[in-house]
Amino acid sequence: FALPEVDTDGLARSHLFYQSRQRRPMLDRASGVHMWDVTGKRYLDGSSGAMVSNIGHSDPVVLNAMRAQMEKSTFGYRLHFENAPAENLARFVADLCPTGLDRVFFVSGGSEAVESALKLARQYALAVGQASRFKVISRYPSYHGATFGALAVTGTASMTAPFAPMMHEMPKIPAPTCYLDRDSLTMEERGRRYADMLEAEILRQGPETVLAFIMEPVGGASTGALVAPDSYYPRVREICDAYGVLLIYDEVMTGAGRTGRFLAAEHWGITPDLIALSKGFAAGYAPLGALVAPDRLVEPVMEHGGFIHGYTYAGNPLACAAGLAVLQETVGRDLPGNAARIGDQLKARLDGLKDRFPFIGDVRGKGLLLAVELVADRETMTPLPPEKMAAARLVDLAYERGLIIYWRRTRGGYLGDHIMVCPPLILTEDQIDEIMDPLTDALV
Ligand code: PMP
Repeated sequence: FALPEVDTDGLARSHLFYQSRQRRPMLDRASGVHMWDVTGKRYLDGSSGAMVSNIGHSDPVVLNAMRAQMEKSTFGYRLHFENAPAENLARFVADLCPTGLDRVFFVSGGSEAVESALKLARQYALAVGQASRFKVISRYPSYHGATFGALAVTGTASMTAPFAPMMHEMPKIPAPTCYLDRDSLTMEERGRRYADMLEAEILRQGPETVLAFIMEPVGGASTGALVAPDSYYPRVREICDAYGVLLIYDEVMTGAGRTGRFLAAEHWGITPDLIALSKGFAAGYAPLGALVAPDRLVEPVMEHGGFIHGYTYAGNPLACAAGLAVLQETVGRDLPGNAARIGDQLKARLDGLKDRFPFIGDVRGKGLLLAVELVADRETMTPLPPEKMAAARLVDLAYERGLIIYWRRTRGGYLGDHIMVCPPLILTEDQIDEIMDPLTDALV
């Protein structure tokens, strides 16, 4: 079977289709923080794909672990066999999560992890005689996944409108965009004010109908790495506790070290009821994600006929062997610590760009989850008019200069034209210039 000749411009008629018509260069190989296309051009992976390749590409330890597993078995269906990589990975994950969160359910990606959290929460409510609780409050903007359930709690209209109405429309509150507020409150007061919107929404819906609240602890692509004031996090936990609402942290993008701690929840000492993980969890080496839950939610469900939910590929030995090696590398090499240290340096350098480029409105984020928002006026944070939005163009210019970054347009939309700068957590101090030089050149 002969493969058709590859058009290196990537413009050939393809049988594949994805989101847009735009074609990109053909990938050849990747190593560490670098990637090469088939013409031999080198790129710095400044966004870790979509914030996925946390430990870099072609890590020899992970490849060896995968090779060793492949020699033994690649697939064993979970209802036919237990497998050691899945057991070991579950134990490893449980040790890294807050006390009590020690039951792990494997999936193949972020949407599936969120979907699993929603379904476990619902089954739990039914198992404990709280059948009236089915509403999941989320925030806008937000992104929680592509499947219909995860999409129903996604708060970004450009993602949901093409499918509206959702299978069940879910209530939403604003994400805390405190940096845009022009009032006399302090940031911490604003943080509490946004959290209190959750309480108001629970009361409006009727607490006995509310099952859960789902949030990204640090906004991902939907808000451009938006971090809430410290006061927001404990207040949200308090409100959920007061009304018996389960708190779901979607750590699909923030987890596995990206923000400078293994979980973003650790920055505020929060113990969520459920955690969704993927992306950096297997860092691109395998399609893998996880839902982490406490016994007190899992056991009632298991006693009432079990969790009626699962994915064929979930927990397969090859993916779990990859995930285990990735997390052992992540912890063993203190990559969250590196993300915190290098992230601070990179953020300071990005902040420095404000002096030169007045259209940079905000530089924000935590660890190596960083974003730069482009605006018409920094003082008023007025967004660029749609025809002048520049992030997409900036990404193309960076591409030409061998730097891959990620963009989202969510204002107009809502939260501006922004680029995300999220390199692998293994980035070294010396490599910061490999991001800053092409980026600065592209901005000029
Ligand atoms: N939740 C968050 C916070 C995400 O960033 C994403 C992916 N961008 C998802 C869920 C969905 O993950 P996946 O694309 O792996 O299904």
